[in-house]
Amino acid sequence: MSKKQEFNAFSSAQAEFDRIAELIGLEDGARQLLRNPMREYHFNIPVRMDDGSFQVFQGYRVQHNDARGPCKGGIRFHPQETVDTVRALSMWMTWKCAVVDLPLGGGKGGVICDPHHLSPREQEAICRGWVRQVFSNVGPVRDIPAPDVMTTSQHMLWMLDEYEAINGGHYPGTITGKPVGMGGSLGRTQATGYGVVYTLREALKELGIKPQDTTASVQGFGNVSQYAIELYGRLGGKTVSVSCWDQAEEASFCFVKPEGIDLTELQGITDHFGGIDQARAKDLGYKILPGESWISQDVDILLPAALENQINVDNVNMINDRVKVIAEGANGPTAPAADPYLKEKGIFVIPDFLANAGGVTCSYFEQVQSNMNYFWELGEVLSKLDVKMTAAYYAVSDLARKHEVTMRDAGYMLAINRVAMACRDRGWA
Ligand code: NAD
Repeated sequence: MSKKQEFNAFSSAQAEFDRIAELIGLEDGARQLLRNPMREYHFNIPVRMDDGSFQVFQGYRVQHNDARGPCKGGIRFHPQETVDTVRALSMWMTWKCAVVDLPLGGGKGGVICDPHHLSPREQEAICRGWVRQVFSNVGPVRDIPAPDVMTTSQHMLWMLDEYEAINGGHYPGTITGKPVGMGGSLGRTQATGYGVVYTLREALKELGIKPQDTTASVQGFGNVSQYAIELYGRLGGKTVSVSCWDQAEEASFCFVKPEGIDLTELQGITDHFGGIDQARAKDLGYKILPGESWISQDVDILLPAALENQINVDNVNMINDRVKVIAEGANGPTAPAADPYLKEKGIFVIPDFLANAGGVTCSYFEQVQSNMNYFWELGEVLSKLDVKMTAAYYAVSDLARKHEVTMRDAGYMLAINRVAMACRDRGWA
């Protein structure tokens, strides 16, 4: 069995929880409750395929904890989906919602399937079948799904339509990630990238560093990265390198311009998947290096916004001594084993579940607007997002200072304490 197969996301999420539970002296009852999901639904979704045959797809919804409010979390379509991955992701959603103080719990769902090999009609049948299996356990006051890996706003609309058909009414707050104009929120596209920079802005303020005196190297050039670079630039910061995956060459590359990249110019030569055209970038004066070089750039800020496990024990020593802050835009970009090295180097890390929580915060705003059937202007969404992210940043940073722990540990402590408190208040623990 390969190392990858042995890795179990749920065991890893539980180990992290156990470590923090020990640190905060969490009582036994709350530990038992919080280290496992409260409810799980496993079901078969029978689908008549385009060729007339029937195929049965395995579907899941896991509700880790809803003491603070209805569960919230995505539904992913993936051929390698496992119930343990869904369990882990649902637990992480509980902590993420709690750290930004959203009145929501954590959930996650999935279907074992590969949309690449399914027609749109077959995908629609899976979406409607998923809702038929769990409609009485999800919805605006129970559990609000959203898109995730390989699910789109179209999938969300099919699911909503099925839910509304079954329940005989309009319930747009059932699901988020809907297109703008069909119950979606303005600002959702910008939310994660901007949220990362709202927290980065506050971190620099606390460290006594002016954004205009800083430079950054960014891994990834997709949704999170592009909006983060835009706002960081507006604060005066200079992004000097970005990296991306090159589909044709099956490798990643780093595009460097010491005088600062031109965001609009780079966006003009970037495809739908965040891949930059190398030949055209060269013509525009970018130096092209192997992808790993993003981490060793002579910059003040590293902003991983691509994949998990990108800062690990094998490359942590390549980080330039000048780096002062890592703002984790991606989910899980730092391997837990690398954290002690970052601490030793004195690098201030804004952990993923705080830094990239702008996405779920805006999804929460979408749900609120949907429930009211009243939609806010872009400026209103973004200013509310800034208020939430800034407050969350200071709640975590104050705790980190008070207990002399890292921002990551403080974030977990805050989140777990908040959820445990809600459980106690309800008489569950
Ligand atoms: P995206 O698909 O829009 O962009 C991903 C970018 O990463 C692309 O530019 C791609 O070329 C690049 N990339 C892929 N492999 C790479 C590699 N090996 N080296 C360098 N670059 C590589 O994705 P996104 O929505 O921007 O998400 C990025 C990360 O942020 C993911 O970890 C995601 O889970 C996390 N995240 C996203 C959101 C959101 O709202 N989009 C919210 C929370 C967390």
